[in-house]
Amino acid sequence: MNILLLGSGGREHALAWKLAQSPLCRALYAAPGNPGIAEVGTCVSLDAGDHAAVVAFCEEKVIGLVVIGPEAPLVDGLADSLRAAGFSVFGPSKAAAQLEGSKGFTKDLCERAGIPTAGYVRVSSEADGMAALERFGAPVVIKADGLAAGKGVTVAMTMAEAEDAVREIFAGRFGEAGAEAVIEEFLEGEEASFFALTDGGTIVPFASAQDHKRVGDGDTGPNTGGMGAYSPAPVLTPALEAEAFTRIIAPTVRTLANEGMPYSGVLFLGLMLTQEGPKLIEYNCRFGDPECQAMMMRLESDLVEILHACAENRLGAIPSPRFSEQTALTVVMAARGYPGTPEKGGRIGGIAEAERGGAKVFHAGTAIADGALVANGGRVLNVTALGASVTEAQARAYATVDAIDFPTGFCRRDIGWREVAREAG
Ligand code: ATP
Repeated sequence: MNILLLGSGGREHALAWKLAQSPLCRALYAAPGNPGIAEVGTCVSLDAGDHAAVVAFCEEKVIGLVVIGPEAPLVDGLADSLRAAGFSVFGPSKAAAQLEGSKGFTKDLCERAGIPTAGYVRVSSEADGMAALERFGAPVVIKADGLAAGKGVTVAMTMAEAEDAVREIFAGRFGEAGAEAVIEEFLEGEEASFFALTDGGTIVPFASAQDHKRVGDGDTGPNTGGMGAYSPAPVLTPALEAEAFTRIIAPTVRTLANEGMPYSGVLFLGLMLTQEGPKLIEYNCRFGDPECQAMMMRLESDLVEILHACAENRLGAIPSPRFSEQTALTVVMAARGYPGTPEKGGRIGGIAEAERGGAKVFHAGTAIADGALVANGGRVLNVTALGASVTEAQARAYATVDAIDFPTGFCRRDIGWREVAREAG
């Protein structure tokens, strides 16, 4: 079949790489794609915000499956427009994507379904926000309700910090995304991510992962989109996964279906592993970036078969996804300046030679200028390697990083540190 993939990041390159390997894939189109994706498919210029144009493209190219990578088009209802035109889509409806698009929506759903999560209050004015802070005391967490590219959350250790965060939200820093806020209880524990696929009825566990949000080694410095990840995350034991499945994922899927918003696509759970068991921090309605890169490296099943079955409500009729027993670890190489203003145009060389060791380099913010590969964004490359342990995968990933010539790039040198320390005993 012909497939259209929307997005341009490392996540989409990993998806494209895996989709293109399938015997079920005839032609792969990506909009807008990136130079890495262009090696396995055809990149086209399409505005995901122009639903009519995307539908027209799908009609012209007789697209059998649309895969929507990032959250913004999902929250904007692109999946609904495509389904209304008769196309099979991997990704949730606008109503179900509120799980990511509105933190208040998710907290209320958790309350209705009895899902373990931090205690919270939804507020829509500075005065209500300040009153809620009094109720919780510091430490406390303040979140703009809508999509804010990871910047709308403040984990405040002091009341002064918390009050500043409330003021900032209601002063309009996040625009519409900050018209409301959620004030919530601070949870203590280790964070881990879990991914499940669902067509609204059947739920299939996918894989676990851990990411690294801060820009600097030792989890220091400002937050980023993610500087590295590995999968699976051994901290999420089979028992904890089972608990997350029965206490969080299953009631979420059931409640959304019962309320007329069946969820179809991947559910990405951000979990806090607390003393009282796993609690939901957040839901995302798409694969994580860079977690997806590590998961695709391990996936042995046919991705087209899985995503197509999910899109057509027949997940229960195909075998569960199979993964390599090995660990995959991804190191993000970013352009100098990130997560502030990244330096554009820096030359990148040596990727093909670096990959000879068996690692895979997924592109994110790259471009071709005068025939040469250059940096064109914050996160630029995702170096992904397999190994028998996190320690081994880490060593292979960094050997590949060191073989790439990207003088204006940088990366964290400690991706996987928690598990490497545990493996060292
Ligand atoms: P991202 O885009 O980074 O996933 P987001 O804007 O969707 O972020 P959350 O994932 O809800 O926001 O929160 C971001 C981070 O803040 C979490 O990964 C976690 O480290 C921290 N955090 C959120 N809620 C809590 C909480 N209740 N207790 C402790 N830490 C929290």
